[in-house]
Amino acid sequence: MKSIYLDNSATTYTDPEVLKEMLPYFTEVFGNASSQHAFGREALKAVDKARQQVAKAIGCNPNEVYFTSGGTESDNWAIKGIALAHQNKGKHIITSCIEHPAVIKTCKALEKQGFEVTYLKVDNEGFISLDELEKSIREDTILISIMTANNEVGTIEPIRKIGEIAHKHRVIFHTDAVQAIGNVPINVSEDNIDLLSMSGHKFYGPKGVGVLYKRNGLKIGRFMDGGEQERNMRASTINTPAIVGLGKAIESAVENMDKNNAHVREVRDWFVKEVQSRISDIYFNGPKDMDKRLPSNANFSFEFIEGESILMLLDMAGIAVSSGSACSSGSLEPSYVLLSIGVPIEVAHGTIRFSFGKNNTMEEAQYTVDKLVETVNRLREMSPLFKQVKGEDKYV
Ligand code: PLP
Repeated sequence: MKSIYLDNSATTYTDPEVLKEMLPYFTEVFGNASSQHAFGREALKAVDKARQQVAKAIGCNPNEVYFTSGGTESDNWAIKGIALAHQNKGKHIITSCIEHPAVIKTCKALEKQGFEVTYLKVDNEGFISLDELEKSIREDTILISIMTANNEVGTIEPIRKIGEIAHKHRVIFHTDAVQAIGNVPINVSEDNIDLLSMSGHKFYGPKGVGVLYKRNGLKIGRFMDGGEQERNMRASTINTPAIVGLGKAIESAVENMDKNNAHVREVRDWFVKEVQSRISDIYFNGPKDMDKRLPSNANFSFEFIEGESILMLLDMAGIAVSSGSACSSGSLEPSYVLLSIGVPIEVAHGTIRFSFGKNNTMEEAQYTVDKLVETVNRLREMSPLFKQVKGEDKYV
């Protein structure tokens, strides 16, 4: 049976080249990077190299890079850390209603501690309004946190302009770039970014490792208390092999971005057109202008049927997709991102996210469309609602 992985926004495989660089740091060079002996120094050398690789990839200084356990920790640290350190200036935070739970739930937690949060609405393609953003800024606004690219519908937000507005009003700007790194060019100084979150496993690096970039001079509270690792800002023994992997992965993702994007986009664009021409009664969610969405992302709602059933039948055909965001799988609630962009609730239930990766082929896309057409036909044949709306014998 075929095995086709189209869930690259949930996670990517670790590139064999990345793994190769990591392996010695589990066994031969296993020292604690904080130790002063040769074993430790050798590990630290590798961590320093990774720090430089990250810095080069996003245009910052190596000493502005802090290694964390992933995107979630970086988001929590950025938002809670700024809230803690700047609450004397104010307690107002601006974010959007389509952020990842790592941002939304962090903001909700802060609301319970007396902070006020504005959740900006988005239009029907997932874009925030720059006008509304500027109007929402108040005297007591301390932080704007808007994602670079959305994990469900692929919308790429105008972060450079968001940063410009933030800085015009002397407000700190954080962006969750977890889905964007390796897919969207980012330069933290040109893009006016003060804090940025990333996660290794979204760009062919290992899981359980991430980065928080923090502009030098910006005051932030500690997130993890304990030892003095990461310049006394983030306690816990440094995960040398994972950090080495993240460094190699980001270097290669940025070096090969144009080539990978061109390939992924060609396959994705073909797939989207084919689905649109062969299946009726669908919504193509997210930006219609393909330059304004992640090259990997195709998100469709199929009317009259359930996304979970499509997912299961595709899984049985060897195709791995997501029925929304992986983070909300297990929940039968429709995705808040889809509802925020105006997809009706009953349609939102029939949603599938296909996210392509650098190794997906045109043949895989063709096989997937064939299986998808078959699956949607089969489910609609069984759908009383579809029969009612379309008449007994008409489907797709
Ligand atoms: N932010 C976004 C936009 C994501 O897509 C994800 C993961 O899917 C995260 C944050 C959380 O990253 P991690 O699971 O690596 O902590």
